[in-house]
Amino acid sequence: MRYDYLIVGSGLFGAVMSYCLSKAGKRCLVIDKRAHIGGNVYTENVNGINVHKYGAHIFHTSDKRVWNFVNSFVEFNRYTNSPVANYHGKIYNLPFNMNTFYAMWGVVSPKEAQAKIEEQRADYIAELHRQGVFEPRNLEEQAISLVGKDIYYTLIKEYTEKQWGRNATDLPAFIIKRLPVRLTYDNNYFNDLYQGIPIGGYTALIEKMLGDTEIRLEADYFADRDYFDSIADRIIFTGEIDRYFDYRFGHLEYRTVTFETKLLEGVANYQGNAVVNYTDGETPYTRIIEHKHFEFGTQPDTVISHEYSKEWHHGDEPYYPINDKRNGELYEKYRALAEQQDRVIFGGRLAEYKYYDMHQVIARALDVADKITANN
Ligand SMILES: Cc1cc2nc3c(=O)[nH]c(=O)nc-3n(C[C@H](O)[C@H](O)[C@H](O)COP(=O)(O)OP(=O)(O)OC[C@H]3O[C@@H](n4cnc5c(N)ncnc54)[C@H](O)[C@@H]3O)c2cc1C
Repeated sequence: MRYDYLIVGSGLFGAVMSYCLSKAGKRCLVIDKRAHIGGNVYTENVNGINVHKYGAHIFHTSDKRVWNFVNSFVEFNRYTNSPVANYHGKIYNLPFNMNTFYAMWGVVSPKEAQAKIEEQRADYIAELHRQGVFEPRNLEEQAISLVGKDIYYTLIKEYTEKQWGRNATDLPAFIIKRLPVRLTYDNNYFNDLYQGIPIGGYTALIEKMLGDTEIRLEADYFADRDYFDSIADRIIFTGEIDRYFDYRFGHLEYRTVTFETKLLEGVANYQGNAVVNYTDGETPYTRIIEHKHFEFGTQPDTVISHEYSKEWHHGDEPYYPINDKRNGELYEKYRALAEQQDRVIFGGRLAEYKYYDMHQVIARALDVADKITANN
């Protein structure tokens, strides 16, 4: 065997594994079917701007081990995620906080804002009770019961319908478990202790993790499976688990998003914020991302991406796993098979059919690597 480990996929999971295993003296080969490293966190430099090719990525965590780990490769800037919502040309801050309530109702004190929300919630819950409904039956009933009609109709309903391609009354209530309402003037989306964007982009972070490890790009494991199986003792597989088992039990489903990315030459600042959500139903896209603002860019040009939510069809880019019974049961069958493969370790968002934030996938890879290196 030429390698101790073949790592299929150079996304965060594969890159962390490669770093840890190489550090433990293992010979690794990393392959990726794409023409670049980094998986979905890949950033491409366009006119000096780091463009988040597969969607806006903001690093946030309260896990000190993970924060120290990523900071050992690159420095992070002070970017704080504070998206805004555009509803028919009017701007509201997110997450829902005192700035949002001031824009919506002109209220200035937490007491007034709370009273407004409580009044709308109580009216709606009473209305449901009159209809004999005591448990929200769908996403619409759930959301209005939590935050009242104004917030729901301005900031939730049409945006959620665009995301899911379905009416809010046809979506299950469990999709929205909580709708945090902040009674402070705080536009920071995350509550985590640490947050930022790697200076130089995520590609720089992945490059540092991969170090001197041998990498082959545009190399699809399935294009030459026998060969790849023959060159390493063990395999770390971060691709789609159903594909690994030739869809034996059927296809796992996903939700997908597509991006239309444009370079606007001579436009220094298009929208004044990295992320603007369009919460009305007429605008076909869900968000516009202006990439330079993730790094406080001062370039003369800008790059923007319109983001569209799309139904996933086989062959589309798989983004978000579907959290329903059918897919959950199907994944369990594949997981049981995966456990029987003693040469192969399945990890990451596609191989575990799980939505992971970046800090979570890193923590998971560090745990898996610790286990492997502790055993041999
Ligand atoms: C739109 C979007 C926005 C997100 N925003 C955030 C955010 O703001 N903050 C956050 O913390 N997280 C965010 N995430 C989550 C983040 O993208 C994931 O946590 C991370 O990418 C998971 O890394 P991974 O290595 O598991 O998977 P991936 O990044 O998908 O890497 C898997 C790699 O394996 C390769 N591969 C697959 N099959 C094969 C094969 N057969 N042969 C060779 N190579 C193969 C792929 O090409 C890919 O490079 C977001 C996710 C999405 C979809």
